[in-house]
Amino acid sequence: MKNCLFCKIGAGEIPSNKLYEDDTLLAFYDIDPQAPVHFLVIPKQHIGSAAALTEQDAALVGHVFAVIAELCRKLGVEEGGYRIVTNIGADGGQSVPHLHFHVLAGRSLAWPPG
Ligand code: 5GP
Ligand code: ZN
Repeated sequence: MKNCLFCKIGAGEIPSNKLYEDDTLLAFYDIDPQAPVHFLVIPKQHIGSAAALTEQDAALVGHVFAVIAELCRKLGVEEGGYRIVTNIGADGGQSVPHLHFHVLAGRSLAWPPG
């Protein structure tokens, strides 16, 4: 989608600190980390948020979670644990309107979130 920041990052038009990439998704470090490990996973195709997902996206979403699990194993944070978050809309705290999954690790995370 034109003028979408994460579409541009997914297409490589805007640089990012990449962790993993394949045909369908990209994982890259958040520019403003909220934990010692904080990366984002985005589909390369434009999807506005998790609220726009349909049954057609089941394989994509499964792939996202499998890639996150593998990356967290490789980063050595599986044992300590981590959190996967996707914010939706204004009340959910979403600032970039392209589906993304935050992965936060490396410290004890508070619950409930603010
Ligand atoms: P949201 O608030 O939509 O859930 O999360 C958006 C995230 O994208 C924020 O954590 C923010 O720091 C991150 N972010 C915004 N712009 C950029 C950018 O240009 N590069 C990277 N790597 N992260 C970004
Ligand atoms: Zn987009």
